[in-house]
Amino acid sequence: MTDDRLIRGVGVSPGLALAPAVVLEWRFPDVPDRSVRPDEVDREIARLHEAVRAVADHLNMLRERVLRSAGLEESRIFEAQILMVEDQDFLAAVEGLIRQNNLSAETAFEFKALELRVAFSGAANLRMRERLADLSATQIRVLRHLMGRPDDELAALREHRHVIVVAHELSPGLTVQLDRDQLLGLVSEEGTRTSHAAILAHSLGIPAVMGAAGALARIKAGTTLLIDGQSGTILLEPTPEELEVARTQANRRHKLELELEGAAGQPAITPDGHAVTLMGNVDLPDEIDVAVRNGAQGVGLLRTEFLVTGRANVPTESEQLEYFRRVTAAFPNHPVVIRTYDLGGDKFPAAFEAFPEANPFLGWRSIRVCLDRPEIFRPQIRALLRVAAERRIRVMLPLVTRVEEVLESRAVVDEEASHLAAAGIRAARTLELGVMVETPAAVVIADRLARVSAFFSVGTNDLTQYTLAVDRGSAHLASRFNPLDPAVLLQLRRVVEVGQRAGIPVSVCGEMASEPLASLLLIGMGYDTLSVSPPSLPLIKWLVRKVPMTVCREAATKALEADTAAQVIEILRSAMQNYVDKRLLGA
Ligand code: PEP
Ligand code: MG
Repeated sequence: MTDDRLIRGVGVSPGLALAPAVVLEWRFPDVPDRSVRPDEVDREIARLHEAVRAVADHLNMLRERVLRSAGLEESRIFEAQILMVEDQDFLAAVEGLIRQNNLSAETAFEFKALELRVAFSGAANLRMRERLADLSATQIRVLRHLMGRPDDELAALREHRHVIVVAHELSPGLTVQLDRDQLLGLVSEEGTRTSHAAILAHSLGIPAVMGAAGALARIKAGTTLLIDGQSGTILLEPTPEELEVARTQANRRHKLELELEGAAGQPAITPDGHAVTLMGNVDLPDEIDVAVRNGAQGVGLLRTEFLVTGRANVPTESEQLEYFRRVTAAFPNHPVVIRTYDLGGDKFPAAFEAFPEANPFLGWRSIRVCLDRPEIFRPQIRALLRVAAERRIRVMLPLVTRVEEVLESRAVVDEEASHLAAAGIRAARTLELGVMVETPAAVVIADRLARVSAFFSVGTNDLTQYTLAVDRGSAHLASRFNPLDPAVLLQLRRVVEVGQRAGIPVSVCGEMASEPLASLLLIGMGYDTLSVSPPSLPLIKWLVRKVPMTVCREAATKALEADTAAQVIEILRSAMQNYVDKRLLGA
């Protein structure tokens, strides 16, 4: 009965949200070719300038709002857009075209805008992607204004106190910029549980459904939506009865959450006395408090690239130092594992020079970018050395595929330590440098990497993507992306065995560790440290306290013999069912 009002996607961040939809439709409108009479040319030029002024004012309003809600650096992205929209050379060219060919303002603007975009994407030395996205965004705004369709969705943002944002695709940059007081939920047609926008939504506790095919065609701006970020459903215009059902469910979940939160302050020890260390993954500063409140024993993954995402420039050494001090101060008795910039893939900040790649996830990413760009890497290493003199930190390198990458990074650490010492700046002499194991290459050479690493942390999001050759961000392939696949599990076993033999700590920080069944499997495989998304900490701790280690180990042994992921799930479900409420075991 509700099928015509129901859209199914993938639940990527749990929770229910009810609010009007704001549809972010960043597409170029269809602009008809329209000529005007010579005596109308001046009026067209006036319309052009009026549209540019209105868009600049609007961007300025957004800039101020982001400044208040997120901070100076985040707001700079709008400064860049304002400069683009007011570019005098470009406007003179549009004006010239209107005059020479008697064209309407939108026809001339579209023509010149396309020329500029082609020039942007063709230039070797441009900050691609987000700058091009910025340019397109401003051009779309001007065109919509000229065509009498100004920023509907932004008007709606002003109209409603609370909104659910619906978009074709949500970039991490966009997710960071949205106003969190107003934003109750997110829906996108693209994206999966491990796409970075989803990870952010989850960390921020914003209910989100991604992979919702056809959402843009079916959801009109202002439609009331009820989204369930757990089951991945979107209900359009819910009836009072449906709302009542949702409220009852929400109350039940809330009670369960309270019960789970009660476990947050207790030690993470299995009923048969094995201690597990549960740390938090921190992407954005807001999450520090959640991680502390939920009893994180330190930070197992500090994603530093979010210091850059959505900003107009790269943070300075001292800005980073301040941030690292802030995070470490929140965990005075526990270590903080800071990951060096993991830029590339779907995380390209505006401040960054990149080039178009057919396969960005197989491209210039992570440690490769850092080693090629000392001006970005070295200030970060210096900030890390400086904070290491004050607090207990570890540093890990993302996407390692070769021993040389660790050795080269180590050389940078040594050189910067000498520079700081020579300059008389208080800093550690060295860093505890570890490797993120998130490529099959790293698993295969794990024994060699162990000789040059202080620890391993397994990034199962990327390890799954690269092992199964499944794009982690593709909604179409979401059902094929499964970290419980035997091909991934056998690698996980190898890593923990190699680490134990080499006597170095081994942990898991991919999203897998935040999933109930998978976390118990990892513990049973010998991973005694998991780093999970802060909102999942109470649940995972609660599970650790319920299920004996002997049960986890037995289940892991059986799971490692399984032929398929479905068998693995079945083995885990039946092993855990006597200990854990069924509702928590959805794999
Ligand atoms: C991973 O790949 O599992 C990981 C933790 O890193 P990210 O999700 O930031 O790529
Ligand atoms: Mg990764």
